[in-house]
Amino acid sequence: MQDTFKHIGLRMALVEQLRKKGIQDERVLAAIGAIPRHFFLDSAFAEHAYQDKAFAIGEGQTISQPYTVAFQTQLLQLKPGEKVLEVGTGSGYQAAILCYLGAKVFSVECKRKLFLQAKKTLAHLHIKPTLIFGDGSVGLPSQAPFHAILVTAAAPAVPQALTEQLDEGGRLVIPVGDLEKQTMLRITKKEGHLICETFDTFAFVPLTGKFGWQ
Ligand code: SAM
Repeated sequence: MQDTFKHIGLRMALVEQLRKKGIQDERVLAAIGAIPRHFFLDSAFAEHAYQDKAFAIGEGQTISQPYTVAFQTQLLQLKPGEKVLEVGTGSGYQAAILCYLGAKVFSVECKRKLFLQAKKTLAHLHIKPTLIFGDGSVGLPSQAPFHAILVTAAAPAVPQALTEQLDEGGRLVIPVGDLEKQTMLRITKKEGHLICETFDTFAFVPLTGKFGWQ
C-alpha cells in the first residue's frame, strides 16, 4: 500500500470537515492530516478511509470515526512527553495519533487477532507505541501512573482501577452509558479529587473484561 497525493488530498479535506464540525485543536488536526488512515483498514475499504465514518476491522470491532478520534484526543489535552494509556487498540490508528502528538503511548487490546494486526501496521509505518495484549479495563498497573487514559470502548461505569492509575493532574476520557449510547466523560484528578465533566453522546462497541460488560 502507498500514501499517494490522492490520499493526502483526501486527508486534507477530512481535516477541513472536522474543523467545520467543531474540532479546534490545531495539533490534533495536524495529526489527522499526517497519519495515513487507509493503512489501518482492510485494503478493500481503502477507498473509504477518509470518509468521516467508523469501519469494520474484523472480530466484530471497528476503527472509530475520525470525528470521534479527534474529539477524544482533543479532550485529553496531551503535552509532548506525557505518558498515556489507551484501552482498546483496535486497528492502532488512535495509538498512531497519540504517538504523533509526542506522547509515550501504551495501548492494550483484548482480541489477539487485532493486537497482532495493529502491531504489524504500526511497525510498517515506523510508529512505536508499546502494545499489550490483555484486559485493559483494569488499566496497566505496572506502568501507572499515567498523565492521560483514553478508553475507546463503551463502559458501563467508570472503572476505579483507571482513576487510581491517573497521576495528579491526569485526565481520563471514557464513554460511559448503556450498550446503545454513551456520554463522553473527562475525569481530572486534582489534589487527589476527581472532577467529572460531561460532553456529547456517542455509540461505541462494548468494553469487555473485568470492569466492562464481560
Ligand atoms: N482505538 C481503536 C482504533 O483506533 O482503531 C478503535 C477501538 S474499537 C472502537 C474498541 C476496541 O476495544 C476493540 O478493538 C475491542 O476489542 C477493544 N476492547 C474492548 N474491551 C477491551 C478490554 N477490556 N481491553 C482491551 N481492549 C478492549
